[in-house]
Amino acid sequence: MDIFIYVYTVLVGLVIGSFLNVLIYRIPLKLSSVKGTSFCPKCKHKLVWIDLFPVFSYIFLLGKCRYCKAGISPRYPVIELLNALCYYLVYSLFGLTPAAFIYAIICSCLIVLAMIDYDHKIIPDRFNIIIGVGALILGFITKDVTWLERIIGFFAVSLPLLIIALITGGIGEGDVKLIAVCGLLLGWKSILLTMLFASVFAAVFGISLMAKNKAKGKTQIPFGPFIAFSVIICMLYGEKIINLYISFLMQ
Ligand SMILES: [Zn+2]
Repeated sequence: MDIFIYVYTVLVGLVIGSFLNVLIYRIPLKLSSVKGTSFCPKCKHKLVWIDLFPVFSYIFLLGKCRYCKAGISPRYPVIELLNALCYYLVYSLFGLTPAAFIYAIICSCLIVLAMIDYDHKIIPDRFNIIIGVGALILGFITKDVTWLERIIGFFAVSLPLLIIALITGGIGEGDVKLIAVCGLLLGWKSILLTMLFASVFAAVFGISLMAKNKAKGKTQIPFGPFIAFSVIICMLYGEKIINLYISFLMQ
């Protein structure tokens, strides 16, 4: 029986992942997310269900548009698979619970806002609001993180960053809001761990860009994607990582 729930979870993850691709494209352009049909961005040919089936269409069409043979970005199947992986992990960790449902929604929000920030260097407020509301609901229905830890988490990183943002302007206000609501979600311990991961990921990414000579020190790298993916890791495994670290220190 369990295997069916896993398969179902992954399929739901893929289908919603394909919808996330639509949101990533349409929200910054202020297009309706549900109305309107999908087109090939190159030849503008209308796409039908056979072209839009998550992951399988990409493999079946060998990553090319069926009409004009233009290459389709591998980003689409990657995002579908990433969302499915998140749902799979959320189910395996939290089962079929109301909390799991909220964790899954938050994972999808983080994936969308990461990609929108990567493309357009903006984080739409609506995603921060959804994550904030999700964090409040989790505060009522779960016991893993106390309210005090959540409230300290809300300010722990966001407040210093806000001050830095006001003085230097180097950090986007969207990033500060995202870090605040994610602090409310994770509590102060895991949001500190998140920032550690995000900084390391961003540094590695920046250095590898410079090594390829694409960035000349001044290129702006959006921080949102690194925060978002670190939040997903810490939301799912933060407590385990912290406990492992503490037991390592105690030896
Ligand atoms: Zn085409």
